[in-house]
Parts: sequence; C-alpha cells; structure tokens
Amino acid sequence: MLAGSGAFAIASNAMDNGARQCAPLLADARKAISPDRAISMLAEGNARYIAGKPLNCDNLGAMRATAEKQTPFACVLGCIDSRAAPELVFDQKIGDVFVGRVAGNIATPEIIGSLEFATAVAGTKAIVVLGHTHCGAIKGAIDQADLSPNLTALLDGIEPAVQATPREGARSSADQGLVEAVALTNIRLTVAALTQRSAVLQGLVSEGKLRIIGALYDVGTGRTHFLA
Ligand SMILES: [Zn+2]
Repeated sequence: MLAGSGAFAIASNAMDNGARQCAPLLADARKAISPDRAISMLAEGNARYIAGKPLNCDNLGAMRATAEKQTPFACVLGCIDSRAAPELVFDQKIGDVFVGRVAGNIATPEIIGSLEFATAVAGTKAIVVLGHTHCGAIKGAIDQADLSPNLTALLDGIEPAVQATPREGARSSADQGLVEAVALTNIRLTVAALTQRSAVLQGLVSEGKLRIIGALYDVGTGRTHFLA
C-alpha cells in the first residue's frame, strides 16, 4: 500500500512536471532563460527522447497558445535528413524552437539571415548547429558528386570541411571514420562562420545574449553530442 502510494506520488510529480514543461513558454519566462540554460533544455529533451519518455505535449493546445505570439527559446540549424528532425530528437513542442534545415547544415546567406531574425528580432538565446552521422550531403561532398549545378553549389559549401579534415590517401565516403570526421569539421566551420559572416550574431554573442554551439546527432543511438 505504501509502495503503491509512493509510486502514485512519483507518477503525479512526473505529471505535474510534464504539465509544467508542456505549458507554453511566455515572454517573461523566456527572459529568465540564459543562453546556457537554453542549450541544457535541448540536452534534457534529447535525454527524454533517448529514454523513450517524451513529454507528449498537447500540440493542438500549444498551437492555440502560440497563435498570436511565439516566444521560442532556441534555434537549430540542421540537415534535411529524415532521421535528424530537431523537434523530435530534442523533444520540443510547437512554438519552442526555430529550425533552419539545409543539406549539410551549412551557413548560407539565407540561413544566416534567418538566424539573425530568430535571435536579434525574435529573441532566442541559443543556436545549435546540428550535424549528424551517416550524412548523405557529407558523403556527396567527399565523393564530389556531380548531379547538377544546384547540388554542386550546395556541396561546394561543405568542401572546405572536406579539405580541412586531415586524411592520408584517397578520400571516399566508404570510409565511415572519414565521413564522421568531416561531419564534425563541418559543424565547427559552420559554428565559426555564423559569427564571422554576421556582425549581428557576433554582437549578440559578445554581449552574452546568445550562445552558438555545435552538436553531432548519432542516427544509430539517438544521442546528441554537444561539442566543446
Ligand atoms: Zn545530412
């Protein structure tokens, strides 16, 4: 009986906690979230995802709550890969995160402009550049895939990461270690590019209002490794 009551108390605490976390984030509450906290909120969401214990928030309720105004706390710049959906792998609900996605998670002018809006105008506290393992765009860049001018232009954006990744001998996407190493280099270069190419983002980082961090998502484990 006591054990049962204890279990009920734990379950109801978990429900209270879940209800709190499912409540829409309001502007005042977001003010109290530091850039570091914004990143840890994403890390906590990834831990829930890996544990198979997502919040399962009412997305229709969140839709209604955010219809007039959104106050997301973070941005994710991710790849288009079907396995690396930021809202799912970070267990976030409607209204929580801005997401920009482009194959190879590179910093194009359109992406940088989007992130400037999401931070300087819309007030988010963190940007996560989210690369992932087994990335087709990274493989294409390593193999210098030549399908069309459009794809070549895209892969040109990843080429600096291929060149900057030390390698002896021929480069091939069959080398999984190389694919992962280039993915990591590409994340770091993208993180650096965001402040190098944007005075707006650089200014926010300098003022301590924004943190930009890279992360590698493992499509085989679901785990997101934040880079130092
Ligand atoms: Zn990818």
